Amino acid sequence: MKKKCPRCRKMYSVNKDSNHRPFCSEKCQAIDLGDWFFEKHKISRPIIDEDDLSIDP
Ligand SMILES: [Zn+2]
Repeated sequence: MKKKCPRCRKMYSVNKDSNHRPFCSEKCQAIDLGDWFFEKHKISRPIIDEDDLSIDP
C-alpha cells in the first residue's frame, strides 16, 4: 500500500511496522510536531514581560 507523505509529498509504502503515519518517516513526523509545538508556544507566550508582572504598583 502506497501513501503520500503530507510533509514532503513523497510516495512511501505503508506497512504494519510503520508508526510514523501519516508521514513517511520519523523526520517528517518530528518536523510536523515541531511546527505545531512552535506555533502553540508562540501563541501562548505572554505579551507582557514577566518582569512587569513582578512589579507591585
Ligand atoms: Zn515525508
